[in-house]
Amino acid sequence: MSVGTGRTPNSTAVDVRITTRAELALRGIRLDAEVARPAGAGPSDDGHVLVDGANAALPTNPASPYSVRDGRVWLGEEDTGVELSPVHRPKFYDLTTADGVRYEQIARLHGADVLATTVVQTCIRYAESDRCRFCTIEESLRDGATVAAKTPAQLAEVAEAAVRLDGVRQMVMTTGTTNGPDRGARNLVRSVRAVLQAVPGLPIQVQCEPPGDLRWITELRDAGATAIGIHVEALDEQVRKRWMPGKSQVPLADYEAAWDEAVRVFGHNRVSTYLLVGLGEDPDELIAGAARLIERGVYPFVVPFRPMAGTLAARDGITAPGAELLTYVTETVARLLRDAGMSGADQGAGCAACGACSVLKTAGG
Ligand code: SF4
Repeated sequence: MSVGTGRTPNSTAVDVRITTRAELALRGIRLDAEVARPAGAGPSDDGHVLVDGANAALPTNPASPYSVRDGRVWLGEEDTGVELSPVHRPKFYDLTTADGVRYEQIARLHGADVLATTVVQTCIRYAESDRCRFCTIEESLRDGATVAAKTPAQLAEVAEAAVRLDGVRQMVMTTGTTNGPDRGARNLVRSVRAVLQAVPGLPIQVQCEPPGDLRWITELRDAGATAIGIHVEALDEQVRKRWMPGKSQVPLADYEAAWDEAVRVFGHNRVSTYLLVGLGEDPDELIAGAARLIERGVYPFVVPFRPMAGTLAARDGITAPGAELLTYVTETVARLLRDAGMSGADQGAGCAACGACSVLKTAGG
């Protein structure tokens, strides 16, 4: 890894903020977050707060050296200058559907203004031999935090309430992978339609594996989705096989075809993918892969891997990457994004627009 950023005194202040934000993402903070996300799909299991006014999903960790005093983050007795405010429990969490399902089991608040749901909370790849090592999608089912399948009508009801009562500004719909060739896209199409009927104009990002039949990408756009995430998580074949034994059977070429079709249908910078830092991929190869994604018009949402409770990685004692590695990758990818004129906010909806699980926004991406 080679760092050559040509720093000025001003950029040093920015760098300190990026490093602090990276440390917070990895080591967490001593805090009782009111809005915590339980285990679920993907790599995050955090408390939701605002850091310097931006959404941030941080592990709440009683052993963290970082704490909060007077609305600022302190490292021991040192005031870092970084501001932190809580995200309050949303009012819609207190509601229940007519058939007795708590709204909170249907969709959850991410950051201060994002409604997130996993439309189908089961995955064909969840057998231990196939499962992504960082994922806990079915764990939150076991502890009753969510329900296995959300109906379009339930999602519409919750979205309407979350927008009206809590000022939600965008929605993220992900799904476990289903058996059919649509890979879960069919349920997403129905869900997007229903939510937009209840809340016209709400920006929605859908997330799924590359559908076997690419025409589903047009169906998702026609339903009214604003953006799409097709998440590869890693580009290195060895890393893919090791971390995602099931998902890595989908060839990278299928991802590339789906990304290209999605850019054609949704537009430049309306398509994104997660890239996890800390799975053992060579950082400069990861950055080169991010550069190729940017050239395609796909936003590489760089996120630190963290061993969430309930994952196979945590069981196997795998630890999060160091802050220096995360900062290096994040700063470099943010610079590539800026050079290409791509910002997460311009996705309109979705994880890159939210930014909470990444340090990219702090780094100017
Ligand atoms: S980045 Fe995505 S997963 Fe993370 S809090 Fe925001 S919407 Fe949720």
